[in-house]
Amino acid sequence: MGPDPTTAPREPRADEDVAERLRSAGLSPTQRRRRVLEAVEHRQRPVSAHELYVELAGQGHRVGMSTVYRALSALAEAGLLHVFAGDGETRYRLCAAGRHYHLVCRRCGTVREYPADDDGAWLDRIAADADFQPDPRKAEVQGVCGTCLRAGQNGTAG
Ligand SMILES: [Zn+2]
Ligand SMILES: [Zn+2]
Repeated sequence: MGPDPTTAPREPRADEDVAERLRSAGLSPTQRRRRVLEAVEHRQRPVSAHELYVELAGQGHRVGMSTVYRALSALAEAGLLHVFAGDGETRYRLCAAGRHYHLVCRRCGTVREYPADDDGAWLDRIAADADFQPDPRKAEVQGVCGTCLRAGQNGTAG
């Protein structure tokens, strides 16, 4: 006899997961916020409100630019998104829980999160020594990613 399908663990649906993440961040999971959170998921590059608006509109979603902007701001304020303030336009990217560094490639704009495996001890040290409270979730390391480095060696960096 095979496993009883009625007792098999149910795969959580993606939209339930998104709604749950909004709730646990203290936000009511409105349809707009769910849509925006889904749209920024699985992105390696931070996205601006305008880029996201154009993308959603291109997919046939009827959302206004200010709606997208408000949703992004709310998600960022709740700590779900990391805010990158570069070249004049604010960009947003999904942020993992826990302490980590953001490795920002200044050539292609890709951002990788890297876990702070010392649990950010050096930031604690700064806080204690310099009488300064760094925001551990916002630690950014600027540089060039391996892909761009290797592309640059071939003269094809873009
Ligand atoms: Zn992050
Ligand atoms: Zn790069």
